[in-house]
Amino acid sequence: MSKHSIARLFSAALALGAPFAHAQLGSQPAKLDVIKVRDDIYVISNVAVPGLTTALITNEGVLLVDDKFEADHDNIMKALKTVTNQPVKYVINTHYHTDHSGGNAKLQAEGTLAVASDNARARMVATNQPGQPNITFSDRSTIHLGGKTVEIYSVGARAHTNGDVVVLFPQQRVLSSGDIFANGPGTSAELVDYPGGGSAKEWPKAVDAALKLDFDTVIPGHGLVSTKKDLQDYRVRAQNFSDTLSQLVKQGKSKADIEKVVRGQFAWEDFHVQFALDGLINEFK
Ligand SMILES: [Zn+2]
Repeated sequence: MSKHSIARLFSAALALGAPFAHAQLGSQPAKLDVIKVRDDIYVISNVAVPGLTTALITNEGVLLVDDKFEADHDNIMKALKTVTNQPVKYVINTHYHTDHSGGNAKLQAEGTLAVASDNARARMVATNQPGQPNITFSDRSTIHLGGKTVEIYSVGARAHTNGDVVVLFPQQRVLSSGDIFANGPGTSAELVDYPGGGSAKEWPKAVDAALKLDFDTVIPGHGLVSTKKDLQDYRVRAQNFSDTLSQLVKQGKSKADIEKVVRGQFAWEDFHVQFALDGLINEFK
């Protein structure tokens, strides 16, 4: 199996929600690269799974967006040490999946505060996930650290889950989008987590909420560091996906026919089909 097919299978598996992802993925630490995005913003990256962690460096500590699987904790800390000796003061989880929040418990043991939406935390509590966030909010929140400002926005619609947030670094004009946006080899198929409250129909609205913000660079949940234009293109694709599905279901197409379209036109693979196709058809009924 090619590296990209494996990556696609893994990224697809994330749609299943935390318990499955936890059992199947993230048992081994991923190889991580450090990418400089701004003088004070770095990405700790494994392109496919567990995806991208954003690090804002200040002289009063570090703020992370997403902390991968628990198994990746030590490598994240090693990667950070190459750019700063500051401790991690906050981690923001863009949603509840364990490839974005699995490092919480270890970070909290070192004094870090975990921040997430009310819905993301509720989901972590319901799935008995360790490292439940210390601070939550429903709509938006702002963190001030070392003279820098970090704005967290609920996307106001269900998309990848029902608790997705995006994180804006207004001074640096950078947005960390979480999984409402993925862009890169093996990462860009739609990952609607229906048990986690996701929605293909509302997904474009979530992207609209992100696009209203003022930024140039996007750090997606998975994939490559991108531009606002890439996110605009993704919005078109998300709408096309929703419209296509809506039409197929209205026309009374069979599950097999719909499966052909999502596999052919939207690069879905076995895992997507197995775990999200029923939810998808159900949503558009
Ligand atoms: Zn996810």
